[in-house]
Amino acid sequence: MSRITLDTVRKEFGSGGDKILAVEDVDLEIRDGEFLVLVGPSGCGKTTTLRCVAGLEDVTSGRITFGDRDVTGLRARERDVAMVFQNYALYPHMDVRRNLGFGLKLSTKLPAAEIDQQVEDVAEMLGIEELLGQKPKELSGGQQQRVALGRAIIRDPEAFLMDEPLSNLDAKLRSQMRTELQTLQHELDVTTVYVTHDQTEAMAMGDRIAVMNGGTLQQVGTAEEVYRDPVNEFVADFIGSPSINVFDATVDGARLDGPGEFSYHLSETDPVEGLRTVRVGIRPEDIQLVDNGIKLGVNVLEPMGNENFLYATLGEQEVTARIDPTNRPHPGESVSFAFDEAALYLFDPE
Ligand code: ADP
Ligand code: MG
Repeated sequence: MSRITLDTVRKEFGSGGDKILAVEDVDLEIRDGEFLVLVGPSGCGKTTTLRCVAGLEDVTSGRITFGDRDVTGLRARERDVAMVFQNYALYPHMDVRRNLGFGLKLSTKLPAAEIDQQVEDVAEMLGIEELLGQKPKELSGGQQQRVALGRAIIRDPEAFLMDEPLSNLDAKLRSQMRTELQTLQHELDVTTVYVTHDQTEAMAMGDRIAVMNGGTLQQVGTAEEVYRDPVNEFVADFIGSPSINVFDATVDGARLDGPGEFSYHLSETDPVEGLRTVRVGIRPEDIQLVDNGIKLGVNVLEPMGNENFLYATLGEQEVTARIDPTNRPHPGESVSFAFDEAALYLFDPE
């Protein structure tokens, strides 16, 4: 168990004109016992970052430490971490008992009876005692994933590194395994870095979330922090479902003007003098339908049971609002909305 620190970690693949900068000078500290989720769109450098921590890739520059131990130059097996992947990488010819015990048999001098006891303890923890005699191909995806986890747990590593471990499971099992994995991680208290491209999964699971884009770390914080206090438009847009509404507007002093009838008097004057362009963000749930407000044209209403999603237009701009289930405006109608200034985000244009 230890803290993991990435200090200006950079990873380039290839050289010369074909050089790919996969990870750009990432600074990140994962606390002892923390469940940290690394999230971002496909290709943003999550897997590469994780593989650098695991020692499966050499960093181009920068430093990685586990606690006070500099592991930058160490090979994977000297780092004492356990990886769990989306393809479970079980040994097909071995039964579950041998799959679980194999690592211990290789790396320790424990007597067979002791290894067997540990295998049974881990199997019980994961609810797979009944499966010990079966081969991987006889197991469901969820059962295989539990065995893969068991193999990681039994090694009692410094850290768990997981790369989209649930993405091959169907939606229902995935959400069940999310909960199990979180509970297990908190019980074991092992520092964990969990990679996913799924922001819902990240929000649900992480003690903290690290958002990446284009090889760079954008923001690290709790689910609430990255949701309520995003550092830029990318993070605001990536976190949250349905996505935040974002549109072009201009600020001049305290006056904010956007598409259609969107016009607002800010309580504070813009510190930048003169007219400037900004990007305005407002979350779907922060749009309140009122009698006298900014006009929206209703396009579609999706009743979701406990809430309704309203798809509307503000001038030329598409806008999504989450509204009360009793509120059912019809397509073609006009409604009007207001918002709290605290719910308004102003981002610099990219
Ligand atoms: P993610 O896991 O977020 O989808 P990756 O870390 O796999 O992203 O990839 C980041 C970037 O690095 C991508 O542009 C990818 O094509 C590139 N990349 C990853 N691995 C290699 C490799 N072994 N050789 C060359 N380019 C790679
Ligand atoms: Mg990946």
